[in-house]
This record gives sequence, structure tokens and C-alpha cells, in this order.
Amino acid sequence: MRWQSARQLALVEDCPYEIVVDTVRRKSLLYRSGLGFLCINHVQGCAHGCKYPCYAFMMAKHHGRARDEADWRHPRLVENAIELLDRELDRKGDKLDCVHLCLTTDPFMVGCPEVSVMSLAIIERLNARGVRASVLTKGLLPIDLADDRRFQRDSILGINWPLARWATPRSRR
Ligand code: SF4
Repeated sequence: MRWQSARQLALVEDCPYEIVVDTVRRKSLLYRSGLGFLCINHVQGCAHGCKYPCYAFMMAKHHGRARDEADWRHPRLVENAIELLDRELDRKGDKLDCVHLCLTTDPFMVGCPEVSVMSLAIIERLNARGVRASVLTKGLLPIDLADDRRFQRDSILGINWPLARWATPRSRR
């Protein structure tokens, strides 16, 4: 796993914009993806707006969850994500091994501290029930994840593919 260095952290803190994150409510959170593993997507949309193109954006547009690219780059946090997760972990927590964050958004979106805070809270909740988390981000893995008083050692599998694209803030509103 690649942790962000002190220099990278400083870059994040100097990020020249902070994206306004709206909220949505959902009825469920945990789901089994078509790839066979369990996932959580606690944000609708993604401020990174990758151009290659982003499959998650194409699916969101197809299913009416994003009007266009500008709408997609305007993230909406699932405000009741923790409440839903607690309920779903109570129901099936002992049957879970690993949960992935995220397939259709980025859990550590640059310029969106609310998203990172929620992602850390979700991982902490999962770990507290003995459930591992795998994390995929094109932002930066926060150094908080190295805190083994809060997160179980060896319980987080992380992939970090930084874009460092906050120099071109397409997502500012
Ligand atoms: S970071 Fe991932 S979800 Fe976000 S726009 Fe890029 S490919 Fe799509």
C-alpha cells in the first residue's frame, strides 16, 4: 500500500478549492457487485471527472443518476450512510469478510474532505466488526489509515493512483 508522503499531504492541504458536496438519502448501502464482491458507494458522482471515459459515469447517466458530466462531477454524499451501515452490519456483519470502497465513486476525492471523513468512518465501522476493507482511490490515501488504534492492522487493502489534478479545478461550483 502506498501512503501519502508529508509533501503530498501538504499539497492536499494547499488544495486551492473545496468542492461543495450536497447530500442524498438512500434505503440501502451494502450490495454485491456484478464482479462478485461486496461494495459500498456512499457518494453519488465523482469530482475527479476522469475522461478515459469513466464507466461509473456512463452507467450513472444511463440509469438517470447523472444528467451530464457536470452533474456527475458534483458529488452527493449519502447522508445516512453510517446509519444504513450499522443496520446492515447488525443483520449480516458476521457473514462478511471484505467490503470494497468504491466501484462507482472515489472514497478519497481530492477537494472533498466530507467524503474522506465519511470513508474513514465507514472503514472504522467495518474493521470494528472484523470486516476488512479494500480501497481504490485516484486521490490520496489519508495517513489516518495507518492509525492501528482506529483501524485493524492488515485489514485494509489499498490501491492509490493519484491524479494530482487539483491544479485544474473543473469541479468548483
Ligand atoms: S476517480 Fe474513478 S469514479 Fe471518479 S471519475 Fe475517475 S474513474 Fe470515475
